[in-house]
Amino acid sequence: MRFGTIGDRLVLIEDGRALDVEKASDGRFAAEVNVTLARFGEFAAWAESADWSAAVPFTEAELGAPSPRPRQVFAVALNYRPHAAEAGFEAPESPLLFTKFPSCVTGPVTEVTLPPGKPDWEIEVVAVIGAGGHRIAREDAWGAVAGLTVGQDLSERVVQAAGKPAQFSLGKSFPGFGPTGPAAVTPDEFPDREDIGFECTLDGEVVQYGRTSEMIFPVDDLIARISAVCPLLPGDLIFTGTPAGVGNRRQPPRYLQPGEVLVSRVDGIGEIRQTFV
Ligand code: ZN
Repeated sequence: MRFGTIGDRLVLIEDGRALDVEKASDGRFAAEVNVTLARFGEFAAWAESADWSAAVPFTEAELGAPSPRPRQVFAVALNYRPHAAEAGFEAPESPLLFTKFPSCVTGPVTEVTLPPGKPDWEIEVVAVIGAGGHRIAREDAWGAVAGLTVGQDLSERVVQAAGKPAQFSLGKSFPGFGPTGPAAVTPDEFPDREDIGFECTLDGEVVQYGRTSEMIFPVDDLIARISAVCPLLPGDLIFTGTPAGVGNRRQPPRYLQPGEVLVSRVDGIGEIRQTFV
């Protein structure tokens, strides 16, 4: 199943057509993503045999974030060894977590106003939480994932690194710094949910690529460790970390410039596209 939002309403997506969930279910499931994801098992079972006769074509510009109002957005630093190495750190022994404040979350195709400083890119696979829960065991953790989607952990490096010790969250939360989409795809749709390829290009040049099997802390481990502290809520997002190839570790460093276009793709999900002004 693939789901997302159009006009801030939950839709199922298939072959370029969208099905409004509230209307197609005669009101059984709400248009509000967080409300319906709270009953994710029931919703997914309904979606398997939904009547698609009322589905309509859409354009990518109409798509919003698959989870537009997450109450918690967790993000992981240094979750790929080559990225930890390029940043000059040892691989961490437990996940290093920060937040992207939820006001930065947007849909997949956007124009992002660059703040002053050193704005940079980080492609990430993002987990969208379904019904959620507290103290989820690692063996149950994939069951907590409603879908995986494409994300960019856009980061302004000057604000990110300010202060001692640095507090990452603010520098990663400028308006538009959390684009996600185009859809959330349920884990069962992937040939191997633990080994998904992805890449991102800047003006057509590949700047990052990787596979989720290279994560130091995989999705199920992250969910177990995060939910050991914070109860996960329906619609929460986990940005699972970025591989090597970010701009500030290049020689010479490279930062996002007005007019550039960043395209981020994940196999089996699709792509998001940011144009910078
Ligand atoms: Zn990141």
